[in-house]
Amino acid sequence: MAMTSRAPEFKDRLVFDVERGEVRDGPVRYLLIRQDSLTGMFRKLPAPARRAALAALGQSIEECGGDSVDRYIEANAVARLMEVVANTAAQLGWGSWRFDESRAGELGLEVENSPFAGTPVDDDAPGSACAPISGMLGALGARILGGPVLVDEIVCATGGGARCRFRARLAPVSRSRGEQKPRSAAKRRHLQRGV
Ligand SMILES: [Zn+2]
Repeated sequence: MAMTSRAPEFKDRLVFDVERGEVRDGPVRYLLIRQDSLTGMFRKLPAPARRAALAALGQSIEECGGDSVDRYIEANAVARLMEVVANTAAQLGWGSWRFDESRAGELGLEVENSPFAGTPVDDDAPGSACAPISGMLGALGARILGGPVLVDEIVCATGGGARCRFRARLAPVSRSRGEQKPRSAAKRRHLQRGV
């Protein structure tokens, strides 16, 4: 038998505490909610509020997801980080994720079966449906690329495509006070990949 020291996966760490009525991964409480309940909330909002709510959820996930990513870094080799995040996303029901590191200074992500695709969006903001995934990519991208990043959803399955495609890029350094703020301010550590 091969010796491995891999940390347990998310689904194996989850504790369903029926007495207390809660689901936990260590100190972090999770909430199971019907996908249609969540997306139904967005459907009920008028367009400007929907856009704001999606953006706010994305930002919240970027902050909380960054905390999760830091916990994964402590428990796993950095080289496995993207694999851990993709596995965790699948176990959370957030679709099937595949990262692409082929472009320098950029982290690409393709998601098949996004639970957020199908949320109505405005014609002028076609990429906003999967803002929660963009938020998580922002958190991860900042740590992988080593600085604040800008995230776009380039193609969303909401428009009828087979999958959603995202891209995180390092934010231009000189635009620190411009009108276009980087999505992520995470700059805590520059990760040395593969060590
Ligand atoms: Zn999408």
